[in-house]
Amino acid sequence: MLTSQDCWPAFLEFIEEKCSAAEFENWIAPIKFIEATEDHVVLEVPNIFVQEYFLANFKKDLFSFFPFSAPNETSVQFVVVEPNRPKPTTPVFSHTESPQGGQDGELKLNPFYTFNDFIEGPANQFVKSAAMGVASRPGKSYNPLFIHGGVGLGKTHLLHAIGHYIKENQKKVKIQCITTEGFINDLIDNLRNKSMDKMKRYYRSLDVLLVDDIQFLQSRLNFEEEFCNTFESLINQNKQIVITSDKPPGQLKLSERMIARMEWGLVANVGIPDLETRVAILQHKAELRGLKVPHKVAFFIAEHIFNNVRQLEGALNRLSAYCRLMGMEVTEEIAEKTLGELMQHAPSKRISIENILKCVSSLYQVRISDLCGNARTKEIAFPRQVAMYLAKELINESLMKLASSFGGKTHSTLLHAWKKIAEQLEKDETLKRQIQIARRNLET
Ligand code: ADP
Ligand code: MG
Repeated sequence: MLTSQDCWPAFLEFIEEKCSAAEFENWIAPIKFIEATEDHVVLEVPNIFVQEYFLANFKKDLFSFFPFSAPNETSVQFVVVEPNRPKPTTPVFSHTESPQGGQDGELKLNPFYTFNDFIEGPANQFVKSAAMGVASRPGKSYNPLFIHGGVGLGKTHLLHAIGHYIKENQKKVKIQCITTEGFINDLIDNLRNKSMDKMKRYYRSLDVLLVDDIQFLQSRLNFEEEFCNTFESLINQNKQIVITSDKPPGQLKLSERMIARMEWGLVANVGIPDLETRVAILQHKAELRGLKVPHKVAFFIAEHIFNNVRQLEGALNRLSAYCRLMGMEVTEEIAEKTLGELMQHAPSKRISIENILKCVSSLYQVRISDLCGNARTKEIAFPRQVAMYLAKELINESLMKLASSFGGKTHSTLLHAWKKIAEQLEKDETLKRQIQIARRNLET
Protein backbone atom coordinates (compact mmCIF):
# COMPACT_ATOMS: atom_id res chain seq x y z
CA MET A 1 0.00 0.00 0.00
CA LEU A 2 1.16 3.55 -0.65
CA THR A 3 2.32 5.42 2.40
CA SER A 4 0.70 8.80 2.87
CA GLN A 5 3.96 10.41 1.74
CA ASP A 6 3.70 8.69 -1.64
CA CYS A 7 0.03 9.40 -2.13
CA TRP A 8 0.46 13.09 -2.94
CA PRO A 9 2.98 12.68 -5.79
CA ALA A 10 0.89 9.85 -7.22
CA PHE A 11 -2.20 12.02 -7.02
CA LEU A 12 -0.38 14.93 -8.71
CA GLU A 13 0.75 12.71 -11.52
CA PHE A 14 -2.79 11.52 -12.04
CA ILE A 15 -4.21 15.05 -12.06
CA GLU A 16 -1.57 16.34 -14.43
CA GLU A 17 -2.67 13.74 -16.95
CA LYS A 18 -6.28 14.62 -16.42
CA CYS A 19 -6.34 18.41 -16.77
CA SER A 20 -4.91 20.96 -19.17
CA ALA A 21 -1.44 22.40 -18.64
CA ALA A 22 -2.90 25.82 -17.87
CA GLU A 23 -5.33 24.41 -15.34
CA PHE A 24 -2.57 22.46 -13.63
CA GLU A 25 -0.27 25.45 -13.59
CA ASN A 26 -2.93 27.82 -12.20
CA TRP A 27 -4.65 25.67 -9.69
CA ILE A 28 -2.65 22.63 -8.73
CA ALA A 29 1.00 23.60 -8.91
CA PRO A 30 0.64 26.31 -6.20
CA ILE A 31 -0.64 23.75 -3.68
CA LYS A 32 1.84 22.29 -1.17
CA PHE A 33 1.38 19.05 0.66
CA ILE A 34 1.91 19.51 4.40
CA GLU A 35 0.94 16.24 6.06
CA ALA A 36 -1.44 13.32 6.00
CA THR A 37 -2.82 11.14 8.75
CA GLU A 38 -5.25 8.26 8.79
CA ASP A 39 -8.23 10.56 8.57
CA HIS A 40 -7.12 13.79 6.99
CA VAL A 41 -4.64 15.56 4.76
CA VAL A 42 -3.40 19.13 5.18
CA LEU A 43 -2.58 21.24 2.15
CA GLU A 44 -1.11 24.69 1.86
CA VAL A 45 -2.78 27.01 -0.64
CA PRO A 46 -1.96 30.58 -1.67
CA ASN A 47 -5.57 31.79 -1.46
CA ILE A 48 -9.15 30.78 -0.89
CA PHE A 49 -9.84 30.55 -4.63
CA VAL A 50 -7.36 27.78 -5.12
CA GLN A 51 -8.89 26.01 -2.13
CA GLU A 52 -12.42 26.28 -3.48
CA TYR A 53 -11.43 25.27 -6.96
CA PHE A 54 -9.62 22.27 -5.59
CA LEU A 55 -12.57 21.16 -3.51
CA ALA A 56 -15.01 21.61 -6.35
CA ASN A 57 -12.96 19.72 -8.88
CA PHE A 58 -10.53 17.31 -7.30
CA LYS A 59 -11.81 16.28 -3.89
CA LYS A 60 -13.17 12.96 -5.11
CA ASP A 61 -9.92 12.10 -6.85
CA LEU A 62 -7.97 13.00 -3.75
CA PHE A 63 -10.10 10.67 -1.66
CA SER A 64 -9.37 7.82 -3.99
CA PHE A 65 -5.63 8.31 -3.52
CA PHE A 66 -5.58 8.73 0.26
CA PRO A 67 -6.86 5.70 2.15
CA PHE A 68 -8.83 7.64 4.77
CA SER A 69 -10.77 5.47 7.16
CA ALA A 70 -13.94 7.58 6.83
CA PRO A 71 -13.68 10.36 4.25
CA ASN A 72 -15.79 13.40 5.19
CA GLU A 73 -15.87 17.20 5.13
CA THR A 74 -12.84 17.51 7.38
CA SER A 75 -10.71 15.03 5.49
CA VAL A 76 -9.04 17.80 3.51
CA GLN A 77 -7.81 20.76 5.50
CA PHE A 78 -6.21 23.88 4.14
CA VAL A 79 -3.74 26.41 5.39
CA VAL A 80 -3.85 29.63 3.43
CA VAL A 81 -0.40 31.17 3.16
CA GLU A 82 -0.08 34.28 1.06
CA PRO A 83 3.02 34.01 -1.10
CA ASN A 84 5.71 36.38 0.03
CA ARG A 85 6.32 37.82 -3.37
CA PRO A 86 8.76 40.65 -3.89
CA LYS A 87 6.93 43.76 -5.03
CA PRO A 88 7.71 44.25 -8.69
CA THR A 89 8.84 47.74 -9.52
CA THR A 90 7.59 48.26 -13.03
CA PRO A 91 4.55 46.50 -14.48
CA VAL A 92 2.49 45.22 -11.62
CA PHE A 93 0.52 42.85 -13.71
CA SER A 94 1.68 39.56 -15.08
CA HIS A 95 2.27 39.62 -18.73
CA THR A 96 2.40 36.62 -20.97
CA GLU A 97 3.33 36.37 -24.61
CA SER A 98 -0.11 35.33 -25.74
CA PRO A 99 -2.45 38.21 -26.40
CA GLN A 100 -4.63 37.69 -23.36
CA GLY A 101 -5.01 41.41 -22.90
CA GLY A 102 -5.48 42.57 -19.39
CA GLN A 103 -4.80 45.38 -17.10
CA ASP A 104 -1.38 46.37 -18.41
CA GLY A 105 -3.21 48.80 -20.63
CA GLU A 106 -1.72 47.78 -23.93
CA LEU A 107 -4.25 46.63 -26.50
CA LYS A 108 -3.13 43.42 -28.16
CA LEU A 109 -4.91 42.46 -31.33
CA ASN A 110 -4.01 39.95 -34.02
CA PRO A 111 -3.05 42.19 -36.97
CA PHE A 112 -4.62 39.78 -39.47
CA TYR A 113 -8.04 39.78 -37.85
CA THR A 114 -9.64 42.78 -39.57
CA PHE A 115 -13.05 43.32 -41.18
CA ASN A 116 -11.36 43.52 -44.57
CA ASP A 117 -9.95 40.06 -44.13
CA PHE A 118 -13.22 38.58 -42.91
CA ILE A 119 -15.02 36.95 -45.81
CA GLU A 120 -18.74 37.26 -45.73
CA GLY A 121 -21.32 34.60 -46.63
CA PRO A 122 -24.90 33.71 -45.68
CA ALA A 123 -23.79 32.05 -42.43
CA ASN A 124 -21.96 35.06 -41.04
CA GLN A 125 -23.43 38.10 -42.77
CA PHE A 126 -25.67 38.96 -39.87
CA VAL A 127 -22.99 38.72 -37.22
CA LYS A 128 -20.50 40.63 -39.34
CA SER A 129 -22.86 43.53 -39.85
CA ALA A 130 -23.73 43.54 -36.15
CA ALA A 131 -20.01 43.67 -35.38
CA MET A 132 -19.52 46.52 -37.83
CA GLY A 133 -22.49 48.36 -36.35
CA VAL A 134 -20.97 48.14 -32.90
CA ALA A 135 -17.55 49.15 -34.19
CA SER A 136 -18.83 52.27 -35.89
CA ARG A 137 -21.07 53.39 -33.00
CA PRO A 138 -19.71 51.83 -29.82
CA GLY A 139 -22.19 51.91 -26.95
CA LYS A 140 -24.91 53.28 -29.17
CA SER A 141 -26.26 50.35 -31.16
CA TYR A 142 -26.35 46.88 -29.62
CA ASN A 143 -25.07 46.48 -26.12
CA PRO A 144 -23.77 44.00 -25.25
CA LEU A 145 -23.13 42.23 -28.52
CA PHE A 146 -22.91 38.52 -27.80
CA ILE A 147 -21.27 36.45 -30.55
CA HIS A 148 -21.52 32.68 -30.33
CA GLY A 149 -20.66 29.74 -32.55
CA GLY A 150 -18.53 26.63 -32.94
CA VAL A 151 -14.76 26.36 -32.85
CA GLY A 152 -12.72 28.01 -35.56
CA LEU A 153 -15.59 29.91 -37.16
CA GLY A 154 -14.22 33.42 -36.74
CA LYS A 155 -15.45 34.67 -33.34
CA THR A 156 -12.06 35.90 -32.20
CA HIS A 157 -11.45 37.29 -35.67
CA LEU A 158 -14.58 39.44 -35.45
CA LEU A 159 -13.85 40.52 -31.89
CA HIS A 160 -10.40 41.77 -32.87
CA ALA A 161 -11.80 43.35 -36.04
CA ILE A 162 -14.07 45.48 -33.85
CA GLY A 163 -10.99 46.45 -31.83
CA HIS A 164 -8.96 47.43 -34.89
CA TYR A 165 -11.76 49.45 -36.35
CA ILE A 166 -12.42 51.47 -33.22
CA LYS A 167 -8.73 52.01 -32.60
CA GLU A 168 -8.26 53.40 -36.08
CA ASN A 169 -11.36 55.55 -36.23
CA GLN A 170 -11.82 56.79 -32.70
CA LYS A 171 -8.39 57.38 -31.28
CA LYS A 172 -9.61 58.71 -27.95
CA VAL A 173 -11.74 55.73 -27.08
CA LYS A 174 -10.27 53.62 -24.30
CA ILE A 175 -10.55 50.03 -25.35
CA GLN A 176 -9.36 46.68 -24.02
CA CYS A 177 -9.57 43.17 -25.44
CA ILE A 178 -9.15 40.29 -23.03
CA THR A 179 -9.65 36.58 -22.90
CA THR A 180 -11.78 35.38 -20.01
CA GLU A 181 -8.65 33.61 -18.73
CA GLY A 182 -6.81 36.92 -18.88
CA PHE A 183 -9.50 38.59 -16.81
CA ILE A 184 -9.40 35.82 -14.22
CA ASN A 185 -5.62 35.92 -14.03
CA ASP A 186 -5.76 39.66 -13.52
CA LEU A 187 -8.28 39.14 -10.79
CA ILE A 188 -6.11 36.56 -9.03
CA ASP A 189 -3.01 38.75 -9.27
CA ASN A 190 -4.85 41.73 -7.89
CA LEU A 191 -6.38 39.76 -5.07
CA ARG A 192 -2.92 38.58 -4.13
CA ASN A 193 -1.46 42.05 -4.39
CA LYS A 194 -4.44 43.53 -2.56
CA SER A 195 -4.92 45.92 -5.44
CA MET A 196 -8.51 45.14 -6.28
CA ASP A 197 -9.52 48.79 -6.16
CA LYS A 198 -7.02 49.61 -8.82
CA MET A 199 -8.25 46.80 -11.02
CA LYS A 200 -11.86 47.84 -10.56
CA ARG A 201 -11.01 51.41 -11.41
CA TYR A 202 -9.15 50.31 -14.51
CA TYR A 203 -11.86 48.07 -15.96
CA ARG A 204 -14.61 50.52 -15.10
CA SER A 205 -12.81 53.34 -16.87
CA LEU A 206 -12.90 51.60 -20.26
CA ASP A 207 -15.13 52.76 -23.11
CA VAL A 208 -15.07 49.43 -24.89
CA LEU A 209 -14.44 46.02 -23.37
CA LEU A 210 -13.99 43.03 -25.69
CA VAL A 211 -14.13 39.66 -23.94
CA ASP A 212 -13.18 36.43 -25.69
CA ASP A 213 -14.42 32.94 -24.74
CA ILE A 214 -16.75 33.68 -21.84
CA GLN A 215 -17.46 29.93 -21.57
CA PHE A 216 -14.31 29.67 -19.44
CA LEU A 217 -16.12 31.55 -16.70
CA GLN A 218 -18.26 28.43 -16.23
CA SER A 219 -15.49 26.52 -14.52
CA ARG A 220 -14.47 29.56 -12.47
CA LEU A 221 -17.67 30.45 -10.74
CA ASN A 222 -15.78 32.25 -7.98
CA PHE A 223 -15.00 34.98 -10.45
CA GLU A 224 -18.41 35.34 -11.97
CA GLU A 225 -19.61 37.97 -9.55
CA GLU A 226 -16.72 40.32 -10.13
CA PHE A 227 -17.12 39.93 -13.87
CA CYS A 228 -20.83 40.60 -13.59
CA ASN A 229 -20.22 43.74 -11.52
CA THR A 230 -17.71 45.07 -14.04
CA PHE A 231 -20.16 44.27 -16.79
CA GLU A 232 -23.04 46.11 -15.14
CA SER A 233 -20.97 49.10 -14.27
CA LEU A 234 -19.84 49.52 -17.89
CA ILE A 235 -23.25 48.94 -19.42
CA ASN A 236 -24.84 51.42 -17.02
CA GLN A 237 -22.49 54.07 -18.34
CA ASN A 238 -23.33 53.14 -21.95
CA LYS A 239 -19.91 51.68 -22.52
CA GLN A 240 -19.72 49.00 -25.18
CA ILE A 241 -19.23 45.35 -24.32
CA VAL A 242 -18.70 42.55 -26.82
CA ILE A 243 -18.54 38.94 -25.68
CA THR A 244 -17.76 35.73 -27.57
CA SER A 245 -18.72 32.25 -26.50
CA ASP A 246 -18.94 28.73 -27.87
CA LYS A 247 -22.60 28.51 -26.78
CA PRO A 248 -25.56 30.90 -26.68
CA PRO A 249 -26.06 32.59 -23.27
CA GLY A 250 -28.93 30.32 -22.24
CA GLN A 251 -26.78 27.22 -22.56
CA LEU A 252 -23.93 28.49 -20.42
CA LYS A 253 -23.77 27.16 -16.89
CA LEU A 254 -23.70 30.60 -15.31
CA SER A 255 -25.98 32.41 -12.90
CA GLU A 256 -29.34 33.64 -14.11
CA ARG A 257 -28.21 37.18 -13.45
CA MET A 258 -25.20 36.82 -15.73
CA ILE A 259 -27.20 35.08 -18.46
CA ALA A 260 -29.90 37.73 -18.37
CA ARG A 261 -27.28 40.48 -18.68
CA MET A 262 -25.73 38.83 -21.71
CA GLU A 263 -29.11 38.59 -23.36
CA TRP A 264 -29.79 42.30 -22.86
CA GLY A 265 -28.37 43.35 -26.20
CA LEU A 266 -27.99 41.43 -29.41
CA VAL A 267 -27.15 37.73 -29.56
CA ALA A 268 -25.65 36.77 -32.92
CA ASN A 269 -24.55 33.40 -34.20
CA VAL A 270 -21.56 32.66 -36.45
CA GLY A 271 -22.54 29.67 -38.55
CA ILE A 272 -20.56 27.24 -40.63
CA PRO A 273 -19.77 28.91 -43.95
CA ASP A 274 -21.25 27.30 -47.03
CA LEU A 275 -19.12 25.86 -49.80
CA GLU A 276 -18.78 29.06 -51.82
CA THR A 277 -17.77 31.09 -48.80
CA ARG A 278 -15.22 28.45 -47.84
CA VAL A 279 -13.73 28.64 -51.31
CA ALA A 280 -13.57 32.43 -51.06
CA ILE A 281 -11.92 32.25 -47.63
CA LEU A 282 -9.33 29.79 -48.91
CA GLN A 283 -8.52 31.94 -51.90
CA HIS A 284 -8.26 35.05 -49.77
CA LYS A 285 -5.93 33.34 -47.28
CA ALA A 286 -3.84 31.95 -50.14
CA GLU A 287 -3.51 35.40 -51.61
CA LEU A 288 -2.35 36.77 -48.26
CA ARG A 289 0.37 34.10 -48.25
CA GLY A 290 1.34 34.86 -51.83
CA LEU A 291 0.27 31.40 -52.87
CA LYS A 292 -1.47 30.60 -56.13
CA VAL A 293 -4.28 28.12 -55.61
CA PRO A 294 -6.34 27.35 -58.71
CA HIS A 295 -10.08 27.66 -58.18
CA LYS A 296 -10.56 23.96 -58.81
CA VAL A 297 -8.14 23.03 -56.05
CA ALA A 298 -9.66 25.50 -53.60
CA PHE A 299 -13.02 23.98 -54.39
CA PHE A 300 -11.71 20.48 -53.84
CA ILE A 301 -10.28 21.37 -50.42
CA ALA A 302 -13.33 23.35 -49.33
CA GLU A 303 -15.58 20.50 -50.31
CA HIS A 304 -13.73 18.11 -48.04
CA ILE A 305 -13.01 20.30 -45.04
CA PHE A 306 -16.30 21.76 -44.09
CA ASN A 307 -16.97 22.59 -40.51
CA ASN A 308 -14.08 24.65 -39.28
CA VAL A 309 -12.28 27.53 -40.95
CA ARG A 310 -9.19 27.06 -38.82
CA GLN A 311 -8.77 23.55 -40.26
CA LEU A 312 -9.20 24.97 -43.71
CA GLU A 313 -6.36 27.33 -42.97
CA GLY A 314 -4.26 24.51 -41.55
CA ALA A 315 -4.77 22.60 -44.78
CA LEU A 316 -3.65 25.59 -46.77
CA ASN A 317 -0.52 26.00 -44.64
CA ARG A 318 0.41 22.40 -45.09
CA LEU A 319 -0.17 22.50 -48.81
CA SER A 320 1.78 25.71 -49.16
CA ALA A 321 4.74 24.38 -47.15
CA TYR A 322 4.83 21.21 -49.22
CA CYS A 323 4.69 22.98 -52.57
CA ARG A 324 7.33 25.55 -51.58
CA LEU A 325 9.65 22.83 -50.32
CA MET A 326 9.26 20.70 -53.41
CA GLY A 327 9.16 23.65 -55.79
CA MET A 328 5.86 22.44 -57.19
CA GLU A 329 2.67 24.07 -58.39
CA VAL A 330 -0.48 23.52 -56.35
CA THR A 331 -2.63 20.88 -58.02
CA GLU A 332 -5.60 18.78 -57.00
CA GLU A 333 -3.41 15.67 -56.92
CA ILE A 334 -0.92 17.23 -54.56
CA ALA A 335 -3.74 18.54 -52.39
CA GLU A 336 -5.20 15.06 -52.15
CA LYS A 337 -1.84 13.56 -51.33
CA THR A 338 -0.75 16.08 -48.69
CA LEU A 339 -4.12 16.63 -47.09
CA GLY A 340 -5.34 13.04 -47.08
CA GLU A 341 -5.67 12.62 -43.35
CA LEU A 342 -7.18 16.05 -42.76
CA MET A 343 -9.94 15.13 -45.14
CA GLN A 344 -10.74 11.72 -43.73
CA HIS A 345 -13.86 12.86 -41.99
CA ALA A 346 -15.50 14.01 -45.16
CA PRO A 347 -18.88 12.43 -45.64
CA SER A 348 -18.86 10.09 -48.58
CA LYS A 349 -22.34 11.10 -49.55
CA ARG A 350 -24.58 14.08 -49.16
CA ILE A 351 -27.09 13.62 -46.40
CA SER A 352 -30.69 14.43 -47.28
CA ILE A 353 -33.82 14.90 -45.21
CA GLU A 354 -35.12 11.64 -46.71
CA ASN A 355 -32.04 9.79 -45.37
CA ILE A 356 -32.61 11.24 -41.93
CA LEU A 357 -36.32 10.42 -41.89
CA LYS A 358 -35.62 6.82 -42.93
CA CYS A 359 -32.89 6.42 -40.37
CA VAL A 360 -34.92 7.86 -37.47
CA SER A 361 -38.00 5.93 -38.52
CA SER A 362 -36.17 2.62 -38.25
CA LEU A 363 -34.28 3.63 -35.10
CA TYR A 364 -37.49 4.42 -33.19
CA GLN A 365 -39.92 2.22 -35.13
CA VAL A 366 -42.21 5.02 -36.23
CA ARG A 367 -43.65 5.80 -39.65
CA ILE A 368 -42.08 8.49 -41.82
CA SER A 369 -45.54 9.97 -42.33
CA ASP A 370 -45.80 10.35 -38.55
CA LEU A 371 -42.45 12.12 -38.38
CA CYS A 372 -43.80 14.63 -40.85
CA GLY A 373 -47.26 14.77 -39.28
CA ASN A 374 -48.67 16.68 -36.36
CA ALA A 375 -49.25 13.97 -33.73
CA ARG A 376 -48.02 15.14 -30.35
CA THR A 377 -47.84 11.85 -28.47
CA LYS A 378 -44.46 11.32 -26.91
CA GLU A 379 -43.75 8.18 -28.98
CA ILE A 380 -43.89 10.28 -32.14
CA ALA A 381 -42.98 13.79 -31.04
CA PHE A 382 -39.67 12.71 -29.57
CA PRO A 383 -38.33 10.87 -32.67
CA ARG A 384 -39.53 13.84 -34.71
CA GLN A 385 -37.42 16.16 -32.56
CA VAL A 386 -34.44 13.87 -32.96
CA ALA A 387 -34.89 13.96 -36.74
CA MET A 388 -35.10 17.76 -36.64
CA TYR A 389 -31.98 17.89 -34.51
CA LEU A 390 -30.09 15.71 -36.97
CA ALA A 391 -31.31 17.78 -39.91
CA LYS A 392 -30.00 20.99 -38.40
CA GLU A 393 -26.72 19.36 -37.41
CA LEU A 394 -26.00 17.54 -40.64
CA ILE A 395 -27.54 19.53 -43.46
CA ASN A 396 -26.24 22.92 -44.42
CA GLU A 397 -29.56 24.51 -45.35
CA SER A 398 -31.69 27.32 -44.00
CA LEU A 399 -33.86 26.45 -40.99
CA MET A 400 -36.92 27.46 -42.94
CA LYS A 401 -36.20 25.03 -45.73
CA LEU A 402 -35.35 22.20 -43.33
CA ALA A 403 -38.48 22.81 -41.27
CA SER A 404 -40.72 22.84 -44.29
CA SER A 405 -39.52 19.32 -45.17
CA PHE A 406 -41.18 18.09 -42.00
CA GLY A 407 -44.66 18.52 -43.41
CA GLY A 408 -44.46 22.30 -43.49
CA LYS A 409 -43.34 23.08 -39.93
CA THR A 410 -42.01 26.53 -39.03
CA HIS A 411 -38.39 27.32 -38.40
CA SER A 412 -39.09 28.08 -34.75
CA THR A 413 -40.53 24.59 -34.26
CA LEU A 414 -37.33 23.15 -35.67
CA LEU A 415 -35.15 25.39 -33.57
CA HIS A 416 -37.12 24.49 -30.46
CA ALA A 417 -36.70 20.78 -31.21
CA TRP A 418 -32.98 21.21 -31.80
CA LYS A 419 -32.54 23.09 -28.53
CA LYS A 420 -34.46 20.52 -26.56
CA ILE A 421 -32.47 17.60 -27.90
CA ALA A 422 -29.16 19.46 -27.57
CA GLU A 423 -29.93 20.11 -23.91
CA GLN A 424 -31.06 16.57 -23.22
CA LEU A 425 -27.94 15.21 -24.91
CA GLU A 426 -25.84 16.70 -22.15
CA LYS A 427 -27.39 14.50 -19.50
CA ASP A 428 -28.89 11.53 -21.31
CA GLU A 429 -26.38 8.81 -22.21
CA THR A 430 -28.92 6.63 -24.02
CA LEU A 431 -29.93 9.48 -26.28
CA LYS A 432 -26.28 10.28 -26.89
CA ARG A 433 -25.69 6.72 -28.08
CA GLN A 434 -28.78 6.76 -30.28
CA ILE A 435 -27.66 9.97 -31.96
CA GLN A 436 -24.18 8.57 -32.46
CA ILE A 437 -25.61 5.50 -34.13
CA ALA A 438 -27.83 7.61 -36.36
CA ARG A 439 -24.94 9.87 -37.34
CA ARG A 440 -22.71 6.90 -38.15
CA ASN A 441 -25.41 5.33 -40.27
CA LEU A 442 -26.00 8.55 -42.13
CA GLU A 443 -22.39 9.50 -42.64
CA THR A 444 -21.12 6.18 -43.98
P1 ADP B 1 -13.01 31.07 -33.16
O1 ADP B 1 -12.59 32.19 -32.26
O2 ADP B 1 -14.43 31.13 -33.56
O3 ADP B 1 -12.62 29.72 -32.64
P2 ADP B 1 -11.11 32.29 -34.96
O4 ADP B 1 -11.66 33.65 -34.96
O5 ADP B 1 -9.88 32.06 -34.18
O6 ADP B 1 -12.22 31.23 -34.54
O7 ADP B 1 -10.89 31.85 -36.47
C1 ADP B 1 -10.07 30.75 -36.85
C2 ADP B 1 -9.36 31.10 -38.12
O8 ADP B 1 -10.29 31.12 -39.19
C3 ADP B 1 -8.71 32.46 -38.07
O9 ADP B 1 -7.47 32.41 -38.69
C4 ADP B 1 -9.66 33.34 -38.87
O10 ADP B 1 -8.97 34.38 -39.54
C5 ADP B 1 -10.26 32.37 -39.85
N1 ADP B 1 -11.62 32.72 -40.26
C6 ADP B 1 -12.78 32.30 -39.71
N2 ADP B 1 -13.84 32.80 -40.37
C7 ADP B 1 -13.34 33.57 -41.37
C8 ADP B 1 -13.94 34.35 -42.42
N3 ADP B 1 -15.26 34.43 -42.56
N4 ADP B 1 -13.10 34.98 -43.26
C9 ADP B 1 -11.77 34.88 -43.13
N5 ADP B 1 -11.16 34.16 -42.18
C10 ADP B 1 -11.91 33.50 -41.29
MG1 MG C 1 -11.56 32.14 -30.46
